[in-house]
Amino acid sequence: MRRVGFFGGTFDPVHRGHLEPARVAMDALELDGVVFVPAGSPPHKQGDPVTAFSHRLAMLVLATQDEPGFYVSDLEAERPGPTYTVDSVPLLRAEWPAAQSFFLLGSDSFGQITTWHRWAELVDMIDLVVLHRDTTWGAHMTAEVPDWLAARIMHVTPGRPLPESATGVPGVLVVEHPPVPAAATELRTRVRQGLAVGDLVPPSVARYIGKYGLYRQGV
Ligand code: ATP
Repeated sequence: MRRVGFFGGTFDPVHRGHLEPARVAMDALELDGVVFVPAGSPPHKQGDPVTAFSHRLAMLVLATQDEPGFYVSDLEAERPGPTYTVDSVPLLRAEWPAAQSFFLLGSDSFGQITTWHRWAELVDMIDLVVLHRDTTWGAHMTAEVPDWLAARIMHVTPGRPLPESATGVPGVLVVEHPPVPAAATELRTRVRQGLAVGDLVPPSVARYIGKYGLYRQGV
């Protein structure tokens, strides 16, 4: 591949808020592929119950199987303890060789990037692609981000030429797109309450959740 994007997350479960912004980013940045990387043991969720990796992976496979250019990696399945992005990126690059690689994350996650393990190393390692999440945007997104990192922000508008980093250091590419207000937490609550979630996930994922009785008892 020429250009690949890695999209890490808990994906408990994957939903429209992941899939649609990833497609926009893929088109805007002319990526040949987006690889979804479910976290083995998400560092931000230590102590919180997380659905089995096998279920989260299966739902990602279902959600992406008919989407050209969307792939799933099970890289983090076997790693014991919390899995950190800074450790996964070199392994992902080896698994999915490309001339250029990017790491995708939501604007809420970017706003908290300084809480990530060895975050300063991570931002010097790979270009970040920030997806617009309705909960965090504009000044809220950069309130906790150091000025030197906020200075790396470049805005990407689908259909317009890509901005180029003048400094040579990895950039922070913020993709301008309408937000998709969806969150896994809210989705799990809806399932627990017996409500439908077909508007938030692909039909195959909705069927899978029902078949395995996921999220009925909490999580
Ligand atoms: P939870 O509600 O359990 O915290 P989530 O919906 O935030 O889950 P994650 O799997 O934790 O989903 O998110 C993976 C990545 O996707 C993160 O970088 C997050 O910021 C991003 N993301 C999640 N939902 C959206 C959304 N609606 N729009 C844009 N980015 C999103």
